[in-house]
Amino acid sequence: MDSAQFVERTTCISCGSTRLAELSTGLFNEKPLCDFILNDPWGENPAPYLRGKHWSYVQCSDCGQAFHKYILAPDWNERRFSQWMTQEAIEEFERPFKTTEYVFSKAVQYTKHVLQLERLSRSLCSGKPVRLLDFGCGYGEFLAMCDLYGFEAYGVDRSSAKRENGRFARIFPELEDLKSSGISAFHVITLFEVLEHLDDPRSLLEVLKEYLVTGGILILETPDCSGINGISTLDDYRKIHPLEHINGFTPATMRGLAESMGFAPIKKPVSFVTTDPMRVVKTVAKQIVGGAIGAGTQQYFRKL
Ligand SMILES: [Zn+2]
Repeated sequence: MDSAQFVERTTCISCGSTRLAELSTGLFNEKPLCDFILNDPWGENPAPYLRGKHWSYVQCSDCGQAFHKYILAPDWNERRFSQWMTQEAIEEFERPFKTTEYVFSKAVQYTKHVLQLERLSRSLCSGKPVRLLDFGCGYGEFLAMCDLYGFEAYGVDRSSAKRENGRFARIFPELEDLKSSGISAFHVITLFEVLEHLDDPRSLLEVLKEYLVTGGILILETPDCSGINGISTLDDYRKIHPLEHINGFTPATMRGLAESMGFAPIKKPVSFVTTDPMRVVKTVAKQIVGGAIGAGTQQYFRKL
């Protein structure tokens, strides 16, 4: 049987430094990792291809960014998308999470983003619709919400299964497709749960920056990998799955990456989407205490 091929990332994905320290390492067929992989739904089971292969989770000694050193070679990554993570496997994986409560709270979150983004981009748009790009938009739920509020919304997602089963029409497979359609000068670009998956997140952000107007808003959101140094528990695995979540951000490293590229962290305006007055009181109280900028791994930035 073929063995999966990996490529090595020898420099920091954030600052480019070569001073990398290993936090943890192991084999794909060692416990507990092999059990976590086995218990996930797959189309074709990847385990036999991963036997004898090493993973190595490293941290940059200069900027603190953590990431997996070995990532699947492009053709094997393609195989992961087309044969391992089939549409059926993705649906089976998502089913237990997608409770009525979860779906509802997600929609509330999206509404909050829309209200905050409208407030922040009002001065940029001068009465015209907010032009927004959701990169890695999945099925396009957030885009559908933006569209209801009159935003001019576009998405990019490489998964053909998600585009075909999506909730929204204007989703392109590649950024290049936007360019060839003459669509640019976005007021807002969002990346929800995207950066942790990318071979080279900095290069993508460099490209996206060109699509954003000066003063435009960038939202980044990833899992918070603070304090995670290895794969011992299921929670560790969910956050730094070595095939899937190949970059581990913390509030500080997310902010560091964006700042080094000419994005300034900004505080979100307050928005209330609730029928519970106590939640309003709590949010206001938090504002008064002064919720720190960049306290979590969902952060707002402005392009300088
Ligand atoms: Zn670094």
